[in-house]
Amino acid sequence: MAIKKDPQPPRSRLILNIVFLVASGLLLLNILLPGFLGPSMAREPYSMFIHRVQEHEVMRASVGQEEIRYQLKNENGEPGEVYATTPIFDLNLPHLLEDNGVEFAAVSPPKNQWLGSLLSWVIPPLIFVAIWRFFIARSAGGGPAGALSIGKSRAKVYVEGESAKITFNDVAGVEEAKTELVEIVDFLKTPKRFTELGAKIPKGVLLVGPPGTGKTLLAKAVAGEAGVAFFSISGSEFVELFVGVGSSRVRDLFEQAKKQAPCIIFIDELDAIGKSRSSGGFYGGNDEREQTLNQLLTEMDGFDAGDTTVIVLAATNRPESLDAALLRPGRFDRQVLVDRPDLIGREAILKIHAKDVKLADSVNLKAIATRTPGFAGADLANLVNEAALLAARNNRQEVIQEDFAEAIERVVAGLEKKSRVLNEREKKIVAYHEVGHALVGALMPGSDQVEKISIVPRGMAALGYTLQLPTEDRFLRDEAELKGQIATLLGGRSAEELIFGSITTGAANDLQRATDLAEQMVTTYGMSQVLGPLAYDRGQRNAFLDNGMPNSRRPMSEQTAKAIDEEVKGLVEEGHQRALAILGSNRDLLETLAQQLLEAEVIEGESLRDTLKQVNMPESA
Ligand code: ADP
Ligand code: MG
Ligand code: ZN
Repeated sequence: MAIKKDPQPPRSRLILNIVFLVASGLLLLNILLPGFLGPSMAREPYSMFIHRVQEHEVMRASVGQEEIRYQLKNENGEPGEVYATTPIFDLNLPHLLEDNGVEFAAVSPPKNQWLGSLLSWVIPPLIFVAIWRFFIARSAGGGPAGALSIGKSRAKVYVEGESAKITFNDVAGVEEAKTELVEIVDFLKTPKRFTELGAKIPKGVLLVGPPGTGKTLLAKAVAGEAGVAFFSISGSEFVELFVGVGSSRVRDLFEQAKKQAPCIIFIDELDAIGKSRSSGGFYGGNDEREQTLNQLLTEMDGFDAGDTTVIVLAATNRPESLDAALLRPGRFDRQVLVDRPDLIGREAILKIHAKDVKLADSVNLKAIATRTPGFAGADLANLVNEAALLAARNNRQEVIQEDFAEAIERVVAGLEKKSRVLNEREKKIVAYHEVGHALVGALMPGSDQVEKISIVPRGMAALGYTLQLPTEDRFLRDEAELKGQIATLLGGRSAEELIFGSITTGAANDLQRATDLAEQMVTTYGMSQVLGPLAYDRGQRNAFLDNGMPNSRRPMSEQTAKAIDEEVKGLVEEGHQRALAILGSNRDLLETLAQQLLEAEVIEGESLRDTLKQVNMPESA
């Protein structure tokens, strides 16, 4: 249990608590501060800790029964390294810390089996109690209202004019989000117009979308457009190893903001604090996060949108993990989707970022946009920069189209890792695997053009890859195309089966994707004859949520569940058989292409397309 300031328990309960604490402290041998920072934290002897405190080197400390963690100040007075030490019986510790200006708090021990020495289980509880008493004494003695005044919020404040003003002109490709946020700008600029009519100004707006789509940028643009102050803090900054810091930071942040109203508070990575409380913390029922979340809820309920216009914008890419309480009316009741840009959006974003680089006249941003489906704004910004770097490396005065072509590949698959060498057999397997994808993909209806096959390992995971580039953005796919995709995904594995008679682990990701797709066909798109046009999942699967997490399913009978499983399996197996059939009847081509690939490592362009035209569809597929 952490020491919490409010609500203050009555004195009698405190005394009971103390008795209980001492008793339990003595009884339980299993008390150890968690090593949730991992073993990497440096340890120092206790005397060193005391020395550092006396030398005013310590910024804050979190005092547990088995361990004291403390963070040093660096030269600029900012938080620095964190150390740990084993406490020694010292009832004066709280006073010492207080006198030397160390922010500190007592930490509750987690439930952790650990047998300590006799000393470590008798004495630390006494320290704990000492600190406990210290806090009581201080609050009883009319100390400052917040007995634990640790952790002033470290929100970064951007005020208009201070930095280059960001406006909606700097954001592109997210038109719907912009339209919704224009309204927020109006609220901030002329709150009276709304309140006089009796309308309530929204307090919280949640920006939801994948990383790098411009959520932070949009929030800054709102502040820039409205010409108000912008407080920004990241959810992960709230949640620290020091208990009690998060909630006091939230309080402090809102206090500061209210003084500057109208203004915007921007909380990035809201999910770091706003995770559903029921989900149970990974770090053992994270007390600290829960406290922070509660404080945030209290603050949001506390300010009255009537006279002080403080609008809280928050961003997350995992809205499904947020605590339901955050989404209630009066809190983050508005959600704005910030999705990946489409073709036109991508071109507009490229234009924005290309303003700062010297482009050759031949550069065709539209063509680049066409080749980068799925890229988020940040990827495109990165792409422009990569292209400029490549041009500079080649001593060119301007960035040319080829620079972009190469940059796309770099961004898509990570830098080439020629150094990671596959052995001959592995190389051979990967070659057949990739050609398998390409051959099946070439035959499938409406599938994207196979542009390149490579067995040069890239990035972390992919051993080789087959690059299919769409010629246009597609939003709707029909059943035949989805089945084609499944077959294409299984093409790799089928080739391995056909040629080597065995299967490697290399196809795991393909299988994952194929199975996901088949499941979606059955449970989301109602494409199964047997199960009919019903959505068996809860239907939250949006493009941006599609991160491989299975959707929750509706309650259903056992038979239905079984039928779904069978249908999914049927679809994947059908794709498998098709792939096998296609590869079987094009075996010569498979062999030739794989040999070519083994020699050249990369096959692309015209010659690849010509070769792939020779693939023929067997009767059975
Ligand atoms: P998020 O907060 O959604 O993760 P950011 O706003 O931090 O993304 O985006 C990072 C950078 O990528 C921005 O500073 C900007 O340069 C670029 N960027 C992202 N989205 C866009 C967009 N829609 N329009 C223009 N630039 C963008
Ligand atoms: Mg961001
Ligand atoms: Zn594969």
